[in-house]
Amino acid sequence: MMIILRPNTQQDKITQLENYIGRLGGIEIQHIQGQDTTILGLSGDTSRIDPGAFDMFEFVERTMKVAEPYKKANRKYHPENTVINAGGVEIGGKNIVVMAGPCSVESEAQVLSIARDCKRAGAAILRGGAFKPRSSPYAFQGLGMDGLDLLSIAGRKTGMPIVSEIMSTDHLEVFDREVDIIQVGARNMQNFVLLKELSHLRKPILLKRGLSATIEELLMAAEYIMAGGNDNVILCERGIRTFETYTRNTLDLSIIPVLKRQSHLPVVVDPSHGTGLWWMVESMSKAAIAAGADGLIIEVHNDPPHARCDGQQSLTPLVFSQLMRSLKAIAQVEGRDI
Ligand code: PEP
Ligand code: MN
Repeated sequence: MMIILRPNTQQDKITQLENYIGRLGGIEIQHIQGQDTTILGLSGDTSRIDPGAFDMFEFVERTMKVAEPYKKANRKYHPENTVINAGGVEIGGKNIVVMAGPCSVESEAQVLSIARDCKRAGAAILRGGAFKPRSSPYAFQGLGMDGLDLLSIAGRKTGMPIVSEIMSTDHLEVFDREVDIIQVGARNMQNFVLLKELSHLRKPILLKRGLSATIEELLMAAEYIMAGGNDNVILCERGIRTFETYTRNTLDLSIIPVLKRQSHLPVVVDPSHGTGLWWMVESMSKAAIAAGADGLIIEVHNDPPHARCDGQQSLTPLVFSQLMRSLKAIAQVEGRDI
């Protein structure tokens, strides 16, 4: 629900209304400040509020129901783009942020050499999986805590913030301490227990779209994290399940303008998992930037044929550096830097 106040309503009146809303309990208020109008956006369980109750405040112009179930993630509640600071790198601003690195951390030498190459090519953030959600229990599950340590070392040595996937609430503390962005993988997008725990942190969260999640479900997952107080959510399109089998997933680039219209949160695209094919990464990256994405997350491996995970979709450092050069032109056309 949104409460639109009359132009130039004085602060003491606004406070009076806020106190009234406060007494209703369980409702949070977002301030949307225009040139001379103020709008209060209410989130929480607003279903039991009678909009007519606000008529007694003569400075209330009108109330409006918000059709979408997501409130804090809704652009109506926050008209400007959200810019998130992740270890000194801004995501959602003018700069297109490229996160790159191996699917999984395999060894210190591997992650460090890839990190150096990615940094030299212009990546801003280092990615690397330590806890891997594999379809087969017999497949490489990641190096776990050791992998996280190696990623941290590589991040520190190259001066790059790091992003890695969390799989269990048991690891909240260590992820909060060690990584700059906590990734919620596609398979955990609706792990509401995990989302609620992450909502108590202030750490940026890279929230990947579930394998068959609708746009509204993705935004409601973001709302879970925001409802608990963590506003630092980055949305990530990584491809969805369709009838098509040529590609690993169907990269839904049409989600970008929708998310940008409906939400103020930054949008990142993962063309590696989105296609599953390394040679498609360049064209899909260009298209993502042209469509308005704020960043990309790309898998890079120094020896793709021998990668322990996702070699077929990983770029070599050389191809990655060529890609970075080719993205500059697209970013420029879009009035952005990379
Ligand atoms: C990954 O980024 O390595 C990963 C497993 O991604 P997703 O959750 O999108 O499959
Ligand atoms: Mn992967």
